[in-house]
Amino acid sequence: MGEPTMRPRETDHTMNPAAPAADAAPTSSLIDPKLAMGWMHTTRFLTTAAQLHHLPKVDVPEIAFVGRSNAGKSTCINTLTQQKQLAFASKKPGRTQHINLFSLGKQGVTDAVLADLPGYGYAAVSRTDKQRWQRVMLNYLVSRESLTGIVLLCDPRLGLTELDEALLDALRPRVQEGLKFLVLLTKADKLTRAEQAKVLSITRLNAGGGEVRMFSALKKQGVDEVAQLLWHWSHPEGLAQPAAAAPQADVAAATPGESDSPQD
Ligand code: GDP
Repeated sequence: MGEPTMRPRETDHTMNPAAPAADAAPTSSLIDPKLAMGWMHTTRFLTTAAQLHHLPKVDVPEIAFVGRSNAGKSTCINTLTQQKQLAFASKKPGRTQHINLFSLGKQGVTDAVLADLPGYGYAAVSRTDKQRWQRVMLNYLVSRESLTGIVLLCDPRLGLTELDEALLDALRPRVQEGLKFLVLLTKADKLTRAEQAKVLSITRLNAGGGEVRMFSALKKQGVDEVAQLLWHWSHPEGLAQPAAAAPQADVAAATPGESDSPQD
């Protein structure tokens, strides 16, 4: 497989205490959503592995997508990357219990990696397989060196499940050390505005310091914002030239050909 070169970014200020934290970036220096969506669109399959030690060492920020099966993770990844089939490759027989890595970056240079972790809690999976998988996932989350951020997808109609809570507990020490963390409440189109506001505030109380956002692949709600957040997580040095005057992106224009039709 022709794996792209993993090169650290030219100006890596991650060791520079004077560099502003990504989430501390003033709103005026947020990347233009069109640029963030363009960056997301460069996502391509890198590799798949059933065991942690089979994953390649990565020297760029890695962002993991996790969540209970059916939470909307594949649809979310496909929507963010504007690629209809990308994350559904992770659902192919033989790959459902694998960690699938994708690389992103313009001009073939990888400046971030996305990790799609298998959905947990799927009823048809045997107890032994579930336990094996939970071990792999927890090991990944606590020990993967390149891990910079986690996106935990959650169906707000179900709320955080026991496994989500266990995952949050396991992550807490790393979050305190600076690991970025976002709870993404999916399928927002299923909720009224009032229900969205309520579930947002409840989840914020339980999210232990992470960010919480609503997301709808169907209505393209939250898509630009998540793309911007992931870009900033991956580029803590921020923008060389602030895009303060950049206009807000037209989401429809940024996602040509998007025709996923979520039905759940
Ligand atoms: P995964 O198992 O977490 O990867 O979940 P999928 O992405 O396969 O989605 C599970 C189900 O939820 C599918 O039927 C999707 O069509 C549906 N779904 C995903 N996102 C949305 C959304 O934003 N709105 C609605 N209404 N349905 C969604």
